[in-house]
Parts: sequence; structure tokens; C-alpha cells
Amino acid sequence: MAKKSRLQAPQGMHDVLGEDQPYFKRIWDAVNEIAHFYAFSKIDTPIAEYSELYEKGTGLTTDIVEKQMYAFKTKGGDALALRPEFTPGIVRAFIQHGMFSWPQPVKLYTYGPLFRYEHPQAGRYRQFNQFDFEVFGEQAAAIDAQVIQIFYTILKELKFGHLVVEVNSIGDYQCRPYYKKVLVNFLRPRQYSLCADCRRRIKENPLRVLDCKEEKCQRVKSQAPQVIDHLCEECKTHFKSLLEFLDEADLPYHLDPYLVRGLDYYTKTVFEIFSEGSIQQDQEGSQTVQRSALVGGGRYDALVRLMGGKDIPAVGAAAGVERIIALMKEKQLPAAEEPAPKVFLAQLGDLPKKKSLKLLEELRKAKINIAEALGRDSLRTQLARADKLEVAYTLILGQREVLDNTIVIRKMDTGEQETVKMEKVVEALKQRLRKS
Ligand code: AMP
Repeated sequence: MAKKSRLQAPQGMHDVLGEDQPYFKRIWDAVNEIAHFYAFSKIDTPIAEYSELYEKGTGLTTDIVEKQMYAFKTKGGDALALRPEFTPGIVRAFIQHGMFSWPQPVKLYTYGPLFRYEHPQAGRYRQFNQFDFEVFGEQAAAIDAQVIQIFYTILKELKFGHLVVEVNSIGDYQCRPYYKKVLVNFLRPRQYSLCADCRRRIKENPLRVLDCKEEKCQRVKSQAPQVIDHLCEECKTHFKSLLEFLDEADLPYHLDPYLVRGLDYYTKTVFEIFSEGSIQQDQEGSQTVQRSALVGGGRYDALVRLMGGKDIPAVGAAAGVERIIALMKEKQLPAAEEPAPKVFLAQLGDLPKKKSLKLLEELRKAKINIAEALGRDSLRTQLARADKLEVAYTLILGQREVLDNTIVIRKMDTGEQETVKMEKVVEALKQRLRKS
């Protein structure tokens, strides 16, 4: 039997309908406004890149590349991947366009869809949106603090209340190799208390064991040596300086010595921003407040060189838009306001319908927000629609009005009606709307 076609969006991917658009708009508006203030310029990179970019940049042993990448061969035989994160594409663009010769720092931001082949669940999708800020060409911890502040400020602009920044330093290429050895020496004798993935990670990428969400791995992790105890002088000073900046900027932070983030390219600073979400009740009835990671980022001083560019330090972060929206809804935070129409145009008969198209355009140009039901004929139906929309005025255009070159303005709360000349209608409406 032929397989029935499933005319549905692919699993983990969603249509964004009208009711959710004001949330997206509110977020994009806040992002654009703050990016503009801090002099970031917008960059849009392709949705697909050569797979090699992520294999090299994100890292072969990361979950994103190992398990979650939408990788495919084109008809021409190119190995491409749908972008699973923004940073490698932006670094590629930085190198490709010779941005190291631009005045430094180069500050870029972007937003749009990303693709990861995840197990779909609440707050975890296969196509989701992020907004992302990156700063190239600055070493100073002040810039790490500024990137954190930008994300914090955007969330505050969206009216999030309690936010916490989790920070850590994972060292650099001088001190991390030594810490890795210390960690492997700790993990090896305990490998049978770890999940199968983490047993493999001990060899390939031991820091990722600290990132594992499995309970038994978390138990081992809580005893593990901490990277901040093994930082070199340079990384230690950088981290200390970052914390001072965060203190000075009144950004509430918490030092999480096991925060490593899942990506290979970070050096020194890593951070996540959390918001308190819903209260969850477990089977025994005890309540815990669910926390949701909204933002993740860090410094990546070696990535530009690794991808074939110069020695350019950089720091950046990205925020998950769908998660932000889910929490905005849960906390009843406001979405963008769509101005409601204040006027309705009702038309009766063929000729008035024809005249309506032109009239609507005139009203649009005059910035009068107007609703209509051009497909309807009966006045009753149209007035009922106008009532439902709670407009202040309805314009009524009948056969007689067209012949007289007039139109009726009906005040909806009193039912009062007035006939005005067609060429005066825009001005007459403006006057009335100013008063109401
Ligand atoms: P990452 O790029 O993994 O550091 O994630 C940064 C933020 O993007 C996270 O804190 C989440 O808010 C969001 N995010 C990551 N993966 C997903 C996903 N599969 N679905 C929805 N949001 C995601």
C-alpha cells in the first residue's frame, strides 16, 4: 500500500502563527534597539554552510556535530550542513571579508533560525531561533562583561524579573591541557560510575563529562577537581577582572565551577543566563523552581586562527528565542502591541465595493488604521464585525453615497450618523479620532 503522505510540519519544527508573531516582534525590536545603541552591525550569513566549517569550528566531538547536525550532500556533491549555531559562520565571514583590517573591535549581531537534530521536547526543537552578538578584536575582560550585560539588558527590556548569570573560566591553551590531565586522572578510576557516552568522553573530550545531564555523571562531577583551581596567571587575572566588572555593573552572577558548555572553542570566560521558570511539583509533593537557560556564550580567542584567520580574540553569546517566548507567556510578560483598528469600512453594493479599494488606500496613506469585510454584502453582518472589533467609527458607503460623492460616518457608541463629502472624509476622520 502506498504510504500516506503526512502533510504536517516536520517533527520538532513549527509554524509561527499570528498569535506568536507579536512576541517575536517584541524580541527583534529589543535586540535591534540595543544592538544599535552599542554600535553592533547586523550580519546575515547563509542558512547552509560547508559541513567542514562546523566540524572544524564547533568541534567533531561536540554533541552538535556528532549527533545533531543536518548534514547533506548537494546534487553537485558538496557536503553542506544547516547551521546549528551562529558563531562559526560569523567567524568564516569575518575571515572571508578581511574584517581584521577593519577598525577593531568588529561588533556583529544577527538573529534567525538554527537547526539541530534533537529529541523534541518542551523548549527543545529541531528548528529554533536565536539572537547572537559577537565582538572581535578585544582581549579585555571588560568586553566579556559588556556582552553579558547586553544579553542581561535585553532580557530586562523584555521585563524578565529574576535573572542569574552563571559564570566560569575554562582556561586557555596554556593551562587547560594540564587541567584536562588532572580531570582524566580523577575520572579514569571512576569510569564505571559514568554513562557510556562519558566513558568515551574521558578519552576524547573529558571536559564534556562535566556537562553531562545524567544523574550518575552529575554525582561524579560534584567531586571532580575544579578548573578555576588550575588556571594560569593570565586566565586567573582575566577572570578576576571579569567578576569585578560584573560587580560594578550590578549584574547578579553565580560562579559555577563546573560550567564548561558543550563546545570546543571556548577559552577563559564561559557563561549562561538563567531565568526562574515555573514551580514544578515532584511525586512526593516537594516543590522546586524550574530554571531555564536562556543565553549561553563565552570567549573564543583561538577560533579565528583555527579557522584559517589571524590571531584575533573574540567573545560572543546567543539566546534561545522560543525559550524566551515560552517564559514570557508563562510569566504573562507583554508582547509587541499591534495597534487595533479604530475605523471600519462597510460597503453596500457593487459600485461602493469598487470605490472601496481606492478609499482604503487613501486611508492607509493617511495612517488611519482601518478594518473592512470586502467579501461581505449585508450591512448587518458588517456592523456586527465592526462592533466586535470595538472600533470608534464605521464608514458606510452605499449606492446613493457613491452617486452623491459622499460617505456616512457612524459613531459606534451613540449610533449618531453624519454624511460628509468624499474628499473631506480623511480630514473628518482625523479630527474625530484626535478627539476620541
Ligand atoms: P547554545 O547555542 O546551545 O549555547 O544555546 C543557547 C540557547 O539557545 C540556550 O540557552 C537555549 O535557550 C537555546 N536553545 C539551544 N538549543 C535549543 C533547541 N534545540 N530548541 C530551542 N532552544 C534552544
